[in-house]
Amino acid sequence: MDLVGSALDLLARLDARPPADLAEQEATTLADALRPVVRGLGRAYYTEGESLVGDTQYDRLFHALRTLEELHPSLVTPDSPTHRVGGGPLDAFEKVEHPVALLSLGNAFDGDDLRAWVDRVYKGLDAVLAEDERVAFVAELKIDGLALALTYRDGVLVRAATRGNGRVGENVTTNVRTIRPIPLRLGPDVPDSMEVRGEAYLSRSRFEVLNERLVEAGEKPLANPRNGAVGSLRQLDPTVTAARGLAFFAYGVGPVEGGTLPATQSGVLDWLGSRGLPTGPERAVFEDVDALVAFCESWAGHRDRLDYEIDGVVVKVDRLDYQDVLGQVSTAPRWAIAFKFPAREATTRLLGIDHNVGRTGVIKPLAILEPVQVGGVTVSKATLHNADYITSRDIRVGDDVVVKRAGDVIPAVVGPVGADPDRDRPVYLPPDACPVCGRPLVRPEGEVDLRHLEGGCPAQLRRAVEHFVSRNAMDVDGLGTKGAALLVDVELVTDLPDLFTLQREDLLALEGFKDKKVDNVLAGVEAARHRPLARLLFGLGIRHVGETVARDLVAHHDSLDALAAAAGEDLEAIDGIGPIVAESVVEWFKDEANRRTVEALQAAGVNTRRLPEERVAATLDASAPLAGVTVVLTGTLPTLTRPQAKARVEDAGGKVSGSVSKKTGLVVAGEAAGSKLDKATDLGIPVVDEAGLLAILAGAPVPGADPTAPTAAPEPDASAPATPTMTLPDGETRSLDALGTDDPEQGDLFGS
Ligand code: NAD
Repeated sequence: MDLVGSALDLLARLDARPPADLAEQEATTLADALRPVVRGLGRAYYTEGESLVGDTQYDRLFHALRTLEELHPSLVTPDSPTHRVGGGPLDAFEKVEHPVALLSLGNAFDGDDLRAWVDRVYKGLDAVLAEDERVAFVAELKIDGLALALTYRDGVLVRAATRGNGRVGENVTTNVRTIRPIPLRLGPDVPDSMEVRGEAYLSRSRFEVLNERLVEAGEKPLANPRNGAVGSLRQLDPTVTAARGLAFFAYGVGPVEGGTLPATQSGVLDWLGSRGLPTGPERAVFEDVDALVAFCESWAGHRDRLDYEIDGVVVKVDRLDYQDVLGQVSTAPRWAIAFKFPAREATTRLLGIDHNVGRTGVIKPLAILEPVQVGGVTVSKATLHNADYITSRDIRVGDDVVVKRAGDVIPAVVGPVGADPDRDRPVYLPPDACPVCGRPLVRPEGEVDLRHLEGGCPAQLRRAVEHFVSRNAMDVDGLGTKGAALLVDVELVTDLPDLFTLQREDLLALEGFKDKKVDNVLAGVEAARHRPLARLLFGLGIRHVGETVARDLVAHHDSLDALAAAAGEDLEAIDGIGPIVAESVVEWFKDEANRRTVEALQAAGVNTRRLPEERVAATLDASAPLAGVTVVLTGTLPTLTRPQAKARVEDAGGKVSGSVSKKTGLVVAGEAAGSKLDKATDLGIPVVDEAGLLAILAGAPVPGADPTAPTAAPEPDASAPATPTMTLPDGETRSLDALGTDDPEQGDLFGS
């Protein structure tokens, strides 16, 4: 069996019987099987930058081996992969011995792990800490790229090496010289010799651009930015590395001679920044452990805001002398830990490819997968986007594939792993007729998707009705996905307005529709007649019109008729509406059948006018941590610059003002805060420092805020329960719990 197959097989064995349950003989067999697999996956990951399985899957195999070795010490072998850092250097490059080893990091997977580590740090520092002394920790984002050690002599870059196995890496100086953000000369006032350590990475935007180019050139796209970074640096031709556009963040220093540096990690980072090296801007120093945990946890949810991939937060003891006191274990320092986010990728088997009819008539290929855990959710279906996507990645049924579920985006197949290009499995052929209604499909010029040439597909109507009645659209109580589908199947509903003319006796004739249920449905339909206009607009299922766009459109047009009459340029003039959305709306209202739908809805007494409460700013999210709060920033904050702090406050729904008044809800004060701080104290306005702000951004309450007071203008329908939302690839925002019922292009993507 190949490496990936063996890994999946071992994972299934671990599911069936945890290693702790095994007797000596079985433990030996399992350890013998685990060793080459963990070693092989590690080699692919560290040396080639290839993740053959998801990080969580790898970590499970690694920890299983370690558990077996702990429980049965006789199973420890001198070459066990649990005793090594990373992979060996490639022969193609000159080998470089690191004067001080580049270590790995211990992991924390949740707040409890992190608190336990903090306790261990306090214990380790017991002899040196003054009474009541608080240890300062610096938290930095853990960028997902590859580690580099840069040697500068007299401020000039003389050598760059990869981490390799920690002791011996590869000399990649020529290639690293082409990485623009890495200064070839540091200055001023630098030690005679110093080693800078940091992470080379590929930004998400560069990754997208590179992949587009690779696909256009008929080449295989990169699996992920990390894989792209490793591959780009390991080029024998430095012009290739240069063209890839790698970036770099410095996160520390190695040996230093002939000079001194600041005495804290945060000071060193500032110092590196002042000498021309880029450092991660999103870092903070904490003494308060709750705020530290909140910072780490909050980044797990916000990581998509960044233009680079992070897989966790690295927490380090800030004082370097304390780091020395703590020292290290065999492969990792005791003074640092990686707070790891749940992995977003996993490997599993592609069992088949189905096709889904979306509510706009698009047909999307859908992967049927051997169920697999990704980021805490079982995924058994995932999008394959379109035929070009499948072909460019050569995805075939029967392959082991990587599935990605990036928090707020629907799960997608990334591509096959470990597949032989000459394998004997048929390549994918797109259908030429709808698998549900048999009508012909077309691929309009310039588009990637297959579409119905004509309307009338029952699957499309079913999706359209499911979406129309869904919670975030018309919210027809009593009619769920199943009910909506049934009404379409028995042809009681042949278009959306039919919902409003449903007759009691027709419903009673349906299986499972008793008196009470029918009462509910009819009451739900009646209530839906009076929904806000933005919900109706969203419910109509116009391409590119998600909830936010619908609200924006309604904020500027007071009725469906006014919208129907609007020209493309009127719509484009609205903040947040681009030409694609504008054209889609105009086209929708031009269509004769859609016009008839609008007329029939009006005739059925459905509200098509804007309700008074809909005039409020449409995009305000009342649940954002600082929604509606006016914040004044004053003084110098320890880590965040003023623009960064402003952006973070605004991202969290706050408004930043330059002066303190009675309307100010919060003052964030740094060093040398002057009269604004005095005025805030006089007026009794809550004041926090940077750590306090970060804690609020991570979900802690704003001090002194009345939890019952409204923090923002009400949403159009404040009675609707808040549902988490997700952004789909087409930019539409959709409620997470409605996924699978109202997604225009996909069916149910999350497995049971
Ligand atoms: P690590 O990646 O967890 O941590 C150490 C590395 O973090 C450093 O070498 C550095 O490159 C990086 N880093 C990024 N930002 C940093 C910062 N601000 N400060 C310090 N370091 C920073 O450790 P590791 O030993 O390189 O890798 C172990 C991890 O790799 C495992 O958790 C595992 O999930 C993953 N892995 C996955 C596979 C797979 O097949 N998917 C195989 C092997 C390893």
